[in-house]
Amino acid sequence: PHADHSAAIRTTCPYCGVGCGVLAAPDGTVAGDPAHPANAGRLCSKGAALGETLALPDRLLFPEVGGRRASWDAALDAVAEGFSRALEQGGPENVGLYVSGQLLTEDYYAANKLAKGFLGTGNIDSNSRLCMASAVAAHKRAFGEDLVPGLYADLEQADLVVLVGSNLAWCHPVLHQRLIAARAARPGMRLVVVDPRRTASVEGASLHLPLRPGSDVALFAALLAHLEKSGALDRGFIASRTAGLDAALEAARAIAPEAAALTGLDPAGLATFFRWFAATPRTVTLWSQGVNQSTAGTDKANAIINVHLATGRIGRPGMGPFSVTGQPNAMGGREVGALATTLAAHLDWDRPGDAGALAQFWRAPALARGPGLRAVDMFRALGEGRLGALWVMATNPAVSLPDSDAVRAALARAPFLVVSDCSRASDTLAYAHVRLPALGWGEKDGTVTNSERVISRQRAFLPAPGEARADWWMIAEVAKRLGFAEAFAWQSPADIFREHAALSALAARRGRVFDIGGLAGLDEAGYAVLEPTRWPVPEAGMRGGRLLDTGALRFVPTPWRAPAHQASAERPLTLLTGRLRDQWHTMTRTGFVPRLMTGQPEPLVTLHPADAPAASGTLVEVTGAGTPAILRLATDPGLPRGVAFLPMHWGARLSATGRSNPLLPAAVDPVSAQPELKHAPVSVRPW
Ligand code: SF4
Repeated sequence: PHADHSAAIRTTCPYCGVGCGVLAAPDGTVAGDPAHPANAGRLCSKGAALGETLALPDRLLFPEVGGRRASWDAALDAVAEGFSRALEQGGPENVGLYVSGQLLTEDYYAANKLAKGFLGTGNIDSNSRLCMASAVAAHKRAFGEDLVPGLYADLEQADLVVLVGSNLAWCHPVLHQRLIAARAARPGMRLVVVDPRRTASVEGASLHLPLRPGSDVALFAALLAHLEKSGALDRGFIASRTAGLDAALEAARAIAPEAAALTGLDPAGLATFFRWFAATPRTVTLWSQGVNQSTAGTDKANAIINVHLATGRIGRPGMGPFSVTGQPNAMGGREVGALATTLAAHLDWDRPGDAGALAQFWRAPALARGPGLRAVDMFRALGEGRLGALWVMATNPAVSLPDSDAVRAALARAPFLVVSDCSRASDTLAYAHVRLPALGWGEKDGTVTNSERVISRQRAFLPAPGEARADWWMIAEVAKRLGFAEAFAWQSPADIFREHAALSALAARRGRVFDIGGLAGLDEAGYAVLEPTRWPVPEAGMRGGRLLDTGALRFVPTPWRAPAHQASAERPLTLLTGRLRDQWHTMTRTGFVPRLMTGQPEPLVTLHPADAPAASGTLVEVTGAGTPAILRLATDPGLPRGVAFLPMHWGARLSATGRSNPLLPAAVDPVSAQPELKHAPVSVRPW
């Protein structure tokens, strides 16, 4: 409380999509930024411990080629040669980039421009594929563009907040704090939590609906049918603004009679939820990975959006469907098109003229002809010898992808693998032929976009350690060596941001809502002091920052589809994976902070006491798709029978036997290609 923040730099937390503003100083003093619209000074346990991660051990400090220290010149030459060779041997389909929601928007923009514009390949995908690809696909189906219509303030202004597949209290803690404060101020505000587990977010909820894992479509389709039956549809809104209601209703009516059986929910609880939803105009339905990480993830998200379109509850204060992202800059990646299925600035291959306009803007010699390999397929292609060169940036797929035994085998046989990362704690780094040391949080400079479309600066306040450099610089240097010097002649992140903003203005002229053209004229000084800014800029057509005043909105029919893999006599439990409150991703930062490790220092598999084959604390073996996990058992009566929970954070470096993702089959959503990380059959027995 007595810390002196006068020397602090205003920056943004690197951990989650809430995107809290942080005041940080080189001496490790960290506080919430009272002037940031996301958090107004608040921080959660992870954000508050950022100061303890400034001197991380295990930094990658120098470039390495073939396991030996090399100069930057030699390393960048090696990358350019490796990619040239792969291009000569197999053309653009033979190379790929796997990037990360941890990159800053400028890094992300550079990577996407290199891949799609100059290597000519659609094979660039982001670890955001694991996080919110289903939300992106659902937004595009419903809104014609990947738009998050609402604001965090809507959660505070709502009379009913529905959390679906979101443990907000642990995964987006500051947003949860805002919600709790709003409920304290307005005790009439209701909170419904739809989650198989009784998580921390259920505490104090008006209603908990512990639905069967994977059955969200049945719940929201039945709700749509109920809204029709009870006369709660907003016919005026539907007629003037939307299309496709009839087909969506038909699918919903078919599911409704089975809803209680499919969801396993008690009919009284269902009826209460339906009644509250029908009667409460100011309703926000917020969802996260419990919805997205599913083979029906896109349909689940559309089923949620459908009930908001049906009631006209969108783009107005206290109303709307709201997807929150896991990573700090998943949204920035979506804006620059760093998913294999999108082009930059929300341009699309399937809209006539978009690809040509982008190629012209970039003066690109060979724009990728169409979408490329999406995360799971990219590593499958690597394993099958269909990728000659892969560059992994700022992410750890050896731990985070499903069926991770196969991912490790694919990495081991990669003909040419480049990994750029700030940390040696990445399991993926071990497989790399070329290792490039990247700047980390506090050292790098650029922008991020949070879950409510606010662009904030991440600012450097620490010197670069060793020879670490910015990701955008590495990408530009490789591009220059491949003969594209003119298109990658940026001198600073501000140069890249201006280009990104100018491209968005072009996209806006082609009808896209994503538009930060108003920032294209920022000079270095203006970029340096850029305040948190919500897009679009300028704010044409918005009401108080909310989107969707214009444009046609589409209902999407969401027929019932069961999860890909069901429990069986041999594997009677359904494994859900997820986060812990105090850990981030594969623990490459938070795993080094003692006070964040005290809550749960080792991975535990948690079962309902009646499913436990042994006492709490016993070592058990969890058997699933790949290498079994051996770890300690915990019990929790808040889990439903038949469900096991395992945190996703531990990689082989931190726990040789407690890894979750080898247990998961690599089933993906047919629309979004997002993997089903929350529904895998397993068995648990004493070890
Ligand atoms: Fe960081 Fe998210 Fe916590 Fe905010 S809520 S401090 S962005 S981890």
